[in-house]
Amino acid sequence: MTTILSCRDLVVEYPTADGPLRAVDRVSLDVERGQTLALVGESGCGKSTLARAIMGLASVKSGSIKLEGEELTGLSQRELRKYRPAIQMVFQNPYGSLNPRLSVGRIIEEPMMVQNIGTQAERRKRVLDLLDRVGLTSEAAGQYPHQFSGGQRQRIAIARALALNPKLIVCDEPVSALDVSVQAQVLNLLVELQRDLGVSYLFISHDLAVVRHIAHATAVMYLGRIAARSNSRDFWKSPAHPYVRALKDATPSMAAIRDGTPGQPILEGEIPSALNPPAGCRFSTRCRYVVDVCRQTEPHLRQVTDQSWVACHRVSVGANGAAVLPESELIAD
Ligand code: ADP
Ligand code: MG
Repeated sequence: MTTILSCRDLVVEYPTADGPLRAVDRVSLDVERGQTLALVGESGCGKSTLARAIMGLASVKSGSIKLEGEELTGLSQRELRKYRPAIQMVFQNPYGSLNPRLSVGRIIEEPMMVQNIGTQAERRKRVLDLLDRVGLTSEAAGQYPHQFSGGQRQRIAIARALALNPKLIVCDEPVSALDVSVQAQVLNLLVELQRDLGVSYLFISHDLAVVRHIAHATAVMYLGRIAARSNSRDFWKSPAHPYVRALKDATPSMAAIRDGTPGQPILEGEIPSALNPPAGCRFSTRCRYVVDVCRQTEPHLRQVTDQSWVACHRVSVGANGAAVLPESELIAD
């Protein structure tokens, strides 16, 4: 496998009146060519900040971001321009991310114009090809964003992201604003495009149900850190980390989603402030398996099975080789 994107010990901080807020804290991850890495976690855990850092839109305090082995951190905006086409982004808000004053054709053409690619006629032809790829008709080129539904707008955003033949598309909650029935259509489109074009995705979502069927590997963030990751599609069958387990328990089945049954709240208790994270394990304040060591020593990611890594003191490897938590010691409610 070829690694397209690799982040190592990435730290991103925001200056605030109360001191630096560390939104991303020593995060490492890899996205492989032609694959999808899902990045999951509750709102505020640092997913979008990580995405912005990868796009060169947030200043990195320390650590490394490499695109096919080329270091991107520390480059000037001018030097970064060379890599811009290779990494594109699709945002959550299909209403805000498309310029309402430009025709759809112009929106999709714009990245090619900025990069001085092709003649106008060549670019126009490419726009029509891209519209077709994302399931829209050529008439769409002359229309404006407000004439389209949320799902269709995300198709337009995907066409724009594809215009420069990117290696990686960072999708930040691309279906979160869409109705469930429309979500599946857009997810299917992304899968189809990956199969046809070999593009890689870093797919960000707060919703496990969304990533489950498209991710080749999954990383779970909690309060700026990676709590667990797995290279297996079967990750969700046996989620060993207590946080992953809680997330999974809170995820309604697809059937329940279709019936409109509301999901459980993810977890009791608030996420602690990133300005003042708990000592030891960051999840210790909400964890049902917490013991003293968890409050004192930060657990580091360690490999527990062939395919999975967890940052948890309580996880061990059971007789069958699977990662397990000490169920018998589970603190009664
Ligand atoms: P997510 O995308 O997972 O919801 P974000 O990356 O948006 O999380 O936010 C991570 C943390 O950084 C949160 O605590 C959030 O309040 C904080 N944050 C995000 N953007 C800024 C900013 N521009 N200035 C200060 N703090 C910010
Ligand atoms: Mg976000």
